[in-house]
Amino acid sequence: MLDIVLYGDPILRRRAKPVKSFTGRTRTLIKRMLEAMKAAKGIGLAAPQVGVSERIIVISTNGEDLALINPRIVGQEGRQVDIEGCLSFPGLQGEVPRSRQVVVEAFNPLGRSVRVTAEGLRARAIQHEIDHLNGVLFIDRAREDSLHWLVREKERDEEGKPRYRKVRTTLEEVEEFYRRMREGN
Ligand SMILES: [Zn+2]
Repeated sequence: MLDIVLYGDPILRRRAKPVKSFTGRTRTLIKRMLEAMKAAKGIGLAAPQVGVSERIIVISTNGEDLALINPRIVGQEGRQVDIEGCLSFPGLQGEVPRSRQVVVEAFNPLGRSVRVTAEGLRARAIQHEIDHLNGVLFIDRAREDSLHWLVREKERDEEGKPRYRKVRTTLEEVEEFYRRMREGN
């Protein structure tokens, strides 16, 4: 299983390189990215998050997988503001404004050009992942007073599901937290 890199790793701030040839290596990487994303219960993942600085993203919403290579947003419309998280920031959430609908041009894993229109959550995920390819992270776009940790409560709810409470945080605390996490203490 591929490891997902955490905030603070310099690769997350680098601009990723375009993919120039569509080989079995790219398709294998995409398969492994989908695997790692699903194991971490995410809905999107960008190649830099698995340590590969190339312009590849995977998305899975409503059970529908999508892999886009060298994606470019060619149209966007409307606005949505909602809670967002990121697999490179486990436990952190914030409110991020995004376009409600996007049109994206990209290549599929076989190297054919594709055009995808998405809205709502799928559009949000695509914008978040394309940001990763440009070294932009959701904390850069989140309203700072909306950043919070999801802290698991000791007691579960009536259906036995874990319960979470939100604890406000700041960018400084976020930096410190993941620095310690990467150093393993
Ligand atoms: Zn992310």
